[in-house]
Amino acid sequence: MGTANQPLLYRFTIIGAGASGLWLAHALLEHGLLENQTLCIVEADRKKENDRTWCYWAQKPIEPAEAISKQWARVHQHHASPEPKSLAPYHYYHIRSADFYSIVKDRLKACKNVSWIEEELLEYHEQESHVCLATYTHQWTSQQVFLSALPALSANIAPARNNNGHGLFLWQSFVGWRVKTATNAFEEDNMSMMDFSIAQNNQTQFMYELPFSKTEALVEMTRFGKEKLTVAEAEVELKKYFLDKGKGAYTIEEVETGAIPMTPQFDSRQRYLHPHTRTVLIGTLAGAIKPSTGFGFKRMNEYATALASAIKNNTALPTMYRPFRFRLYDELLLSILTETPQRGKEIFEQLFRRQPIQRILKFLDEKTSFYEELLIFIRLPIRLFLKSLLSRIFT
Ligand SMILES: Cc1cc2nc3c(=O)[nH]c(=O)nc-3n(C[C@H](O)[C@H](O)[C@H](O)COP(=O)(O)OP(=O)(O)OC[C@H]3O[C@@H](n4cnc5c(N)ncnc54)[C@H](O)[C@@H]3O)c2cc1C
Repeated sequence: MGTANQPLLYRFTIIGAGASGLWLAHALLEHGLLENQTLCIVEADRKKENDRTWCYWAQKPIEPAEAISKQWARVHQHHASPEPKSLAPYHYYHIRSADFYSIVKDRLKACKNVSWIEEELLEYHEQESHVCLATYTHQWTSQQVFLSALPALSANIAPARNNNGHGLFLWQSFVGWRVKTATNAFEEDNMSMMDFSIAQNNQTQFMYELPFSKTEALVEMTRFGKEKLTVAEAEVELKKYFLDKGKGAYTIEEVETGAIPMTPQFDSRQRYLHPHTRTVLIGTLAGAIKPSTGFGFKRMNEYATALASAIKNNTALPTMYRPFRFRLYDELLLSILTETPQRGKEIFEQLFRRQPIQRILKFLDEKTSFYEELLIFIRLPIRLFLKSLLSRIFT
């Protein structure tokens, strides 16, 4: 990736070529915005590794669909029903980040107007007519900057946290084993989601099972909590899970660990950015991760498309605004899980037992009507939610 003859002024700069940065660069390309305008992408890490896997549900795959390594049409929830349930019209998709990085980067590399700087952003100063940026070896200016990461040495950017949500903050932490079993141990077409059959130990914690074949799967223990799950804690539960489910002998091929912030603090309360703003937050910093689920990959793609389309049509740039009631539901759940983590299992098991999976997924996508939301809430431990609502009002 050339750096020698880079222009000093770019139309766009994207800081961070992770999920949101690459989705945005891809959307600018797809909208024809890079045919005669320049883009500089700054990324501190060369990203050749598979540093995470992303899953999302949708009615059709998001392009580039070739990044999808596996999809499932049915979900097994053992506590809710002995038979797997169809997800139709949804599928659950799985992407290895290494595939996503290389496919999107290859598309971008074919565009002569895209330049890459593989260094850490160190400085950032927004001026009236442009933004000045610097890494260790480069200095340049840009008309518009999209930030998915903050510069290491600068305190010039204030809007990273909006301080919403009464300081609510939990970690969604997980430890996953990608395993190979000696004999057939998995139902290849059925994934399992939020399996609470493991010890709760005063936490909210559960298993995911994503099978790639009858003998290969990613089995992941996840915790929603103030304290992150440790590898040692997860090992105990994972070993027990394999034993209890009679999976037989297995070898661990890869271990995936991670932690995702679950907080309303990045939520935007305005629908549009100020017309003269030159700095646009994207990704986690813009509130892309839904506080109650930790999912954000699909939302980052939707936001990238919305931004590219607004730039193309010269209309006001949108934020990642979410309607008030969805922000409220997230806050109520987060405060219940903070105050009484041992009730998490009961809430989620009731939700999955008493609602069609399609309605739950639609609700988590924030596409349900108020009536559908009522149908969901009346079949949950409603007193807990009312108590949480009252304490939110009176504190
Ligand atoms: C392990 C893991 C698994 C996840 N799985 C899912 C999932 O299955 N589904 C889902 O919807 N969401 C998932 N998420 C949540 C979310 O989608 C991801 O965290 C997503 O990668 C966040 O995108 P981002 O662009 O905000 O940050 P990132 O993808 O982390 O990108 C930020 C980039 O900025 C770079 N950077 C940082 N500082 C600098 C600097 N100073 N200069 C230059 N570059 C810099 C970093 O190297 C990084 O590449 C997961 C998160 C994790 C951590």
